[in-house]
Parts: sequence; structure tokens; C-alpha cells
Amino acid sequence: MNYFIDVILPIPLQKAFTYHITEAEADFIKTGMRVAVPFGKNKIYTALAYKIHNNPPTAYEPKTIHQILDDTPIITELQLKHWEWIANYYMCSLGEVMRASLPNALILESETIISRNENITVNDVELKDDEFLIFEALQYQSSLKIQDVISILDKKRVLPVIKGMVEKNILHLHEELYEKYRPKLVRYVKLDDAFKSETKLQELLDILSRALKQREVVLSLFTLQAQNNKPIKVSELTKASGASTAIVKALIEKSILEEYHIQTDRVQYKGEDNSEVKALSEVQNEALIAIESNFQDKSVTLLHGVTSSGKTEIYVNLIKKQLEQGKQVLYLLPEIALTTQLVERLQNYFGEQVSVFHSRYSSNERVEVWNNLLTQKSKAQIVIGARSALLLPFSDLGLIIVDEEHEQSFKQFDPAPRYHARDAAIVLANYHKAKILLGSATPSLESYFNAINGKYGLVELTTRYNNVLMPDIELVDLADKYKRKRMKGHFSDRLIEEMTVALDDGQQIILFQNRRGFSPIVECVTCGHSPQCPNCDVSLTYHQFRNQLRCHYCGYNSAMMNNCEACGNASLDTKGFGTEQIEEEVKVLFPDHKVARMDLDTTRGKFGFEKLINNFEQGEIDVLVGTQMLTKGLDFRNVKLVGIMNADNLLNFPDFRAHERSYQLMSQVAGRAGRTDLRGKVLIQTYNPHHNILQQVSVNAYKEMFKEQMNDRYNYHYPPIYRLIKITFKHKDYNKVNLASDWFAKSLRQVFKANVLGPEFPPISRIRNLYNKNILVKIPQNQSLNKTKEAIMKIHNSFNAVKDFRPVRVILNIDNY
Ligand code: ADP
Ligand code: ZN
Repeated sequence: MNYFIDVILPIPLQKAFTYHITEAEADFIKTGMRVAVPFGKNKIYTALAYKIHNNPPTAYEPKTIHQILDDTPIITELQLKHWEWIANYYMCSLGEVMRASLPNALILESETIISRNENITVNDVELKDDEFLIFEALQYQSSLKIQDVISILDKKRVLPVIKGMVEKNILHLHEELYEKYRPKLVRYVKLDDAFKSETKLQELLDILSRALKQREVVLSLFTLQAQNNKPIKVSELTKASGASTAIVKALIEKSILEEYHIQTDRVQYKGEDNSEVKALSEVQNEALIAIESNFQDKSVTLLHGVTSSGKTEIYVNLIKKQLEQGKQVLYLLPEIALTTQLVERLQNYFGEQVSVFHSRYSSNERVEVWNNLLTQKSKAQIVIGARSALLLPFSDLGLIIVDEEHEQSFKQFDPAPRYHARDAAIVLANYHKAKILLGSATPSLESYFNAINGKYGLVELTTRYNNVLMPDIELVDLADKYKRKRMKGHFSDRLIEEMTVALDDGQQIILFQNRRGFSPIVECVTCGHSPQCPNCDVSLTYHQFRNQLRCHYCGYNSAMMNNCEACGNASLDTKGFGTEQIEEEVKVLFPDHKVARMDLDTTRGKFGFEKLINNFEQGEIDVLVGTQMLTKGLDFRNVKLVGIMNADNLLNFPDFRAHERSYQLMSQVAGRAGRTDLRGKVLIQTYNPHHNILQQVSVNAYKEMFKEQMNDRYNYHYPPIYRLIKITFKHKDYNKVNLASDWFAKSLRQVFKANVLGPEFPPISRIRNLYNKNILVKIPQNQSLNKTKEAIMKIHNSFNAVKDFRPVRVILNIDNY
């Protein structure tokens, strides 16, 4: 009998790939174990075992696998089932879902680049022969490809060796090479608690009288401690005692000294006593009871609670109950809100049971969370993470919380799988028979629609915790202010007045501007020319700090020129304004106060964002200027005033969700004001003070906004009334994109008639040298989604059969929120 195995490869293949295996291998391998397989001419991939069977593939001669990498599966059955749902629903390959799910360290492949971990001292003698050869090669070269390792070791089967060395932390994988901002890990030591008492200490010194060097180290530690009562670095200790690090290490291994890190680079629970869960207010408690009673017969409930109503504390109570039943909890957040603020808040309650899964964490850290979940360690009882955390190996979920459920960033755009984390989480919860709570102060129209139609439970909190009043929101008419010359730069007299009052009272201020950079457009006042990105169809943005012009789509940059490229005159002027310009103006208006800026430019690196937040929390910054990064669920205690510099560029954005989004964004920014006891003040500067959305934001009229926006969605056939599938065509040749998308649209129209829109160029039609054109397929409620997708796939297959069209990239985006 012949045995074969279908594997999932981490690449976009439509079908599983089949290999030949022996009977013994067939006996041993279980679905979800990793196997190393050859693919193509000379590539090696880590694949996941999918199905074992006896049917040879018909189209090709199957190769044999290289080897089996695991003793037990590294994914769970439910997880695989969920992956299959994602692949199927979002029309991508299982391999693409696998790629998005597994941390890189778990999918070594021939293209993977390895390098030495410089932070670790390796004892050559302890290395096995193969390990030594790799290690030695890395003394001469900073990095190696897996292919290089194959030739160094002169054998094909190298992945287990590398896997072992990565696990021992001797090697780093490719991506770690980019972690340049890694703060230095400072090692500290202290005497182990066991020797705290006088007698124990004396005993220790007696024992060490036979190890004089070690005794010397312990005594030095005391001297240092006596000199100044501060934490003691390992380096200080070796210097003071004259002992080598090996001796200190020996003491640590004997548990005489305890090693710890003060600035560790992963979020680590510091081991303080757990705080008690806060007693809920009466209103919060009612909400909690309502949520639980909704969960009796509905798996999804929406918690619509105004900003600072204390939603997080309600989540904490729900989590606590799940843990008591031994269930796992997943807490999903938009990437940027994953700050130490919330992590610390949860760790204070739940200590080590909290694991954080974050794309900015290194691959090794992510593997740790993965393994803890897989082995059901109590350390990973609660996982907090951004959208990809929902692809982890959960075995027994009891509850999923999707906080800030309206956030657009829950939808992945590129690469595939283009999944919506909230929607995929609802499916995941169903597989686990778990409950799922969506929380937001400004729910998405989708979720609120489902809630009022009875599909989801609905619980509303209309007051802030502690009965703090909702902020007082004032609209400032910019046209009027300019006319009456009441503007200084981009600041109205009202904004300056309120800022002065807040600063005089020692309160903090947040200023929101949607654009980063100094000014979005540079224009020649003589000929009207403005410098364009050579790769994209956009104007370049001026960044004063580096005196550069930058493209916000592809990162292209060039030095700012003095003369216009077109007419040569020295008459370049800037138009519009971004965060950088606002920061400059604040410095001039309030020279005695500290101002800082939070946007993509100032928060790069693993800790950029956290640092700014900490500085602001600790009062080292008086005025924080920023983009939407500022809005995401942050809880500052001392912010009195929020200024929205210009509401109009939000409202005028060409998208059917622009108004919904503007409402959400402005309400969320406004919600940062006055969260503790003083009522907050919000000023919104605009040319359209009578705009419905602004009126609604100013009186917190969510339901009115909902009703009005839903009317538009009914009338114009948009979600949540119709579903959308967006099909994007990409190619560097303008004509090709036109021809291909026209052909596709024509075929679609034969099936879907008037429910096909486009093809149309998006507002920015060329990005990174590729032209983009979109077709939108609208799907009425009574039309089967599956049948629609089948029809699209059929057209896609005929499309691919046309030789000319094949090089055009076609991207399918389901539920293009
Ligand atoms: P939301 O998530 O709805 O924006 P939070 O949960 O962040 O609101 O609560 C706002 C503030 O009120 C936080 O500083 C929080 O610590 C405090 N708070 C909320 N509920 C309670 C409670 N029951 N007891 C004490 N403080 C609370
Ligand atoms: Zn560009």
C-alpha cells in the first residue's frame, strides 16, 4: 500500500500539495504536525500535515518529505477548522491563513535568514557538532541563509538543528535583524529572598567559605547595597568584586542570587500583589447582569457605552468569572491600543495569567505565547492581542471581548487573508461555544443594526463612571473667524482662550489633526505646479523637521527644493497643515509649556508609542498633538481640553463610510477629555458648523446619526443592507489595468446586472508604480453569498485563461468595510 500526505504550504496555492510517505511515517504523523518538504527546484518549506491517504496525485509525481519536525501537532483541531472557514469565506488559500497565524520561528524555510544572538554567551563545548559548525560560520558572517547551512553541514535535513538553536536562543531569525530599537537589556541581581534573615545569611557565608570567589561576590553585593540603596547591575557587581560573570552566573544557578531585568523588552508582569477587581457601580452592575442574561440565549452581545462609562471594568468582571471556570479568554483590541496602559490594568487583576500577543513582539516571544496556549498553561489563560491573536491555538475559549469593535483596523487589507477580526471572532466563538462581547462608545453601523434587529443582544451605558458629565462640545466657525481676523495661524481665538485657561489650571490638552507632516501640499504660486511622488499618484508632503518631501504611500523622499521644478522660480509655498505645523505653532503660542507630537513619524520602534504615553501620563507633556493614534481607548486622567483643528477633511473624505467614521473618530477624540471628575471641554474647528454629523457629535446623538446614515445605506445599497465584494486590479501598465478590469466587469454584469459598479480608479490610482482599478459587487440580502463567490471564481478562472491578463494581479476583498 502506498501512503501519501497532503500538506499546507505557507504560500498562496489553491490546493493542498501531496507528498509520498512511508507506512511508518503515515502511522506517526498527525494532522497539524510540521514536516519539512522540498518544493519547486530547490526550496525547502515547513509545511503542516493536513490529510493522510492512499491516493497518488494525478497531475505530478509526488516527492518524499524531508522529515517530520514535531512529535505532536502544533495546532488544534478547532483552530484548523477556523482557518478553513477563513480561507473559504475570505477567498484565499489555507496556506495564506497559516502564514498569517504561525510566528515566523515556527515556519523555517529555505529563504529564512539566521544570525547570531549577540546578547548571549555560548559555551562552544556544549554545542553539538552541527550546531558548532553553524555557530562558527556565524563568527565570520553576520547572517546565513538556510541554503548556506545546507552546504556548510553538507546535508539536506538542517531544519531540526536550526529549530533547536532558535529554541535555545542562540540564533535569531531574519525579522529580528530589523529590531533596531531594542532597548538594551540591563541585568540586575539581588540576594535570593531565602537568605533574608540574619541566620540564613550567616549559614550561607559559612558554606561559601569553601568557595572564596563566590563569597567575595556576595560580600561585594552587600557593600554596594549599603552604599546606595539602589538596584545593582551585574556589571557593577563584577566590577566591584573583581569576579568574572561566570562566577555570578554560578551563584544565580545555585539560586543564591536572583537575576532580574528592569527594562525588559517584553511586557512582563512584575509580580506585585494582585489588586482586587473594582466594585462596580450600580449602573455598571446592571449592565453586567444584562450582558449575562443576554448571553443566556444569544452568543453575541453589543455593549454600547459612552466613553469612560467603565466598560473595561465590566470586561474585567466577566473575565474573572470565566477564569474561575477554567476557561480561556481572548481580548481583542486594535493594534495601536495595545498599550502598556491596558496590559498593566489587566495584569494588576490577573497577574501572570495574562499573555500579550503583539506584532511588535519578537518571533520568540510570540512562539512562547503559542506554546503556552497549546499546552494549556495557566500563563496564557487570557490572551490580549490585535487581530492576529484570534488565529492562535485556543483549546477552550469561554469568552471573547472585541473592544473598540467599530475600529477599521480590525479588517486586514494586505496581504491575504483579508479577514475582519470581529466577524472571524464571532465564528471562532461559535466553534468553542463561547460568548462574545463587542464593546464600543461608537458602534459600527453593522453591529448596532444587528443588535436592534435582535441578532445580537444589546446593552447600553449612557453615563460616565462616577457621573462625570460628558464633555461640553463647542463648534467654532472657521470662516467667520478668518473673516473677522480672529485666527493666529491655525488657532481660533476660542481655542487659544480655552488652552490658556487649561494650562493655567495645570491641566493637559490634546490637539487632533488628521494629517501628519508639516503641510500636505507644496505648490508654486507662479505656475501652480506641485511636486509629485514618482511612484504614486499623490502630491508629496512637506516635513519641516528633516526639510524633506515625503510620500505617505510608498515612503519615497527627497530634499525640499528651493525653486519650482517646473518654472524655476523661487516661489514654492505650502498649503494645508499637518501635526508638525500645529506642534510648531503651539511652541510659539505657549513657549513656557511642553508640547509633543504623536503620529507615525514619532512613534516608530517598539516603544516609541509607549514612551510618549508614559510621558504624557506623568505630566511631562502639557500639550499632545496627534493623529488618530490619539483616539484609541486611552485613559488619561488629567486631560481637560481637546481641540479638533479641522473637522472638514474628515467629513469630505470620498468614501460611503466617511460620515460614520467622522462621527466615531471625533466622539472618540472628544472622549479623552474630562475622564475623572472635572467636566471636559472640546472645541471643533470647522467651515461647516451646521453639518449634521458635527451637530450630532456635539450632543452625543449616536442614535440620530445611526438612523440618518442607515437611510443612506438603504437608499444607495450599501452595508449593512447590501454586502460588498471589492475586486482590485493591479499592474504597472495603465492600459492593461483598463482592459483587464473592463473585461472582468463586463462578465460580472452578465450575472449580477446593475449590482456591479466600476471599474473605477480610486482617488489615488497609482501606488508604488502600480495602477489600481476597482470593481464593486453589491450583494442584496436575499442573494446567496456562496453562489455569488462561485460565480466570481468562475469568471476569475476564465480571466486567468487569457494570456494577456495573467500578469494582472487580482485581489478579492470580501466585506470591504
Ligand atoms: P471605558 O472603557 O468605558 O472608556 P474605563 O473602563 O476606562 O471606561 O473607565 C473610565 C475610568 O473610570 C477609568 O479610569 C477607570 O479606572 C474608572 N472606573 C471605571 N469603573 C470603575 C469602578 N467600578 N470603580 C472605580 N473606578 C472605576
Ligand atoms: Zn509614493
